[in-house]
Formats: sequence, C-alpha cells, structure tokens
Amino acid sequence: MSDAIYIRRLKYGDTMNIIFFGPPGAGKGTQADLVSKKLEIPTISTGAIIRNALKNRTKMGLEAKKYTESGALVPDDIVIGIIEERLSDSDCKNGFILDGFPRTVPQAEALERMGIRIDVVLSIELSDEVIVERMSGRRVCPSCAASYHIKYNPPTDGKKCDKCGAELTIRKDDDPAVVKSRLDVYHNETEPLEDYYRKKGILKTVQSQDKVEDTTALTFAALGIEVAV
Ligand code: ADP
Ligand code: ZN
Repeated sequence: MSDAIYIRRLKYGDTMNIIFFGPPGAGKGTQADLVSKKLEIPTISTGAIIRNALKNRTKMGLEAKKYTESGALVPDDIVIGIIEERLSDSDCKNGFILDGFPRTVPQAEALERMGIRIDVVLSIELSDEVIVERMSGRRVCPSCAASYHIKYNPPTDGKKCDKCGAELTIRKDDDPAVVKSRLDVYHNETEPLEDYYRKKGILKTVQSQDKVEDTTALTFAALGIEVAV
C-alpha cells in the first residue's frame, strides 16, 4: 500500500464518495481530475462516457447524439444505466467522484435506490455571464478528453494536448446558441438538486475563480484535503 493511500485512510476513512455539481463551464471536470489524483479514486463523467460512445459509434452513442448536440439532456434511463454499470466496477470500491451526474432529481433518486452512499456534494458556483465567456474559449482533446481554455488554462504550445499531443478541438455543444440552451436546462432541471442535497446536509459550495489553482485551493479546503505535499 502506498503512503498516499495510508495517509488518506487515516484521515478520511476507507472511502469518499463525492458528487461534483455546478453549471456547465464551472470547471467541474478540471477540479474532479485533480481531486481524483490526490485521493486516488476514479472520476466518472457521464459527459465523457457519452462522448466516447459517440466517437465509437455505439448504439447508445448514436441515440445520445440527438440530445447532446442541441444542448438537451440525454434521457434519464440511459444515463442511469451507464452509472449503474460503471459504479459496479471494482475500482469504485474505495470511493469515486461523479462529474455530471446526477443532473435531474429522478437521477438522484435512482442513485439512492441503488443504495449508493454519497458523502459530499461539492457545488462549484458561477454566473451565467462568466460561463458564456469561458465556454467560448474551451478546447478539448478528442483523443484523451483533457480540457483546456485558451485564456485560463492554455496548453503549452497553444494547439496541442499536453498529455497526448493530439490537435485540440471545440466541442459542438460549446457553440454559443447551444450554451444558452444548456444554461436553460441547467436552471430548470439541474439546479433543483442543490436544494435536494442541501436538505440532506451534505452540500458544500465554492465560488469558481478565474484561475484554476485558486478554485482548486477552495475545493480541496471544502473537501478537507491537505494541499501541502
Ligand atoms: P458540461 O459539464 O460541460 O455541461 P458534460 O460533459 O457533463 O458537459 O455533458 C455533455 C452533455 O452530455 C450534456 O449537455 C448532456 O446532453 C449529456 N449528459 C451528460 N451527463 C448527463 C446526465 N447526467 N443526464 C443527462 N444528460 C447528460
Ligand atoms: Zn490528449
């Protein structure tokens, strides 16, 4: 067993099941990846799973495409199925981070019915204006799914992925008109979950900062993770 795991277990108990919550563009994925590395638990992103299915032209991917490209949510039964299957994998037994799920109250209820315990829901907050600005600058790696921003988190050479060298692309659903409809969907269907989890007493909020590392500091503090290495 590595030291890192030993220290974490002493501090946090055996597992930590976390939900990252917040509007599109708040930086959930970026923060989830950092926490994932620090705690050595997997991040499960329904958005990434769906994009991957689309890339591989699976039946689920082609079905989901109809919704994602217009900024709509993929039907609950599809994403609930994805999550149920993924959470049964053995790498989730020491904890996990959910990024982009649940996104509706029925999805949260389904998670409860599966008997999945959630320890903390971390909500990253951000205004609609800033979201629009951020999404217009977002670039993603089509190969390894790493995410960048031309202003806030640029790749070293400007155009290529730092992790795998692939040419970065703009996601179709980051188009301004699609962003607008994703925000509407967020306010109508996803935001009610904040109250759902607040009532359960497990909601923590942080304000998204301009610099990734500043948001990370707040995120780690909210989760009780020590930043010093
Ligand atoms: P972001 O966090 O930037 O909004 P994601 O990568 O999480 O985007 O998701 C991209 C798209 O995938 C969403 O706009 C939606 O169509 C679909 N999707 C992802 N997760 C869910 C979910 N839990 N329920 C329904 N649709 C989802
Ligand atoms: Zn890459």
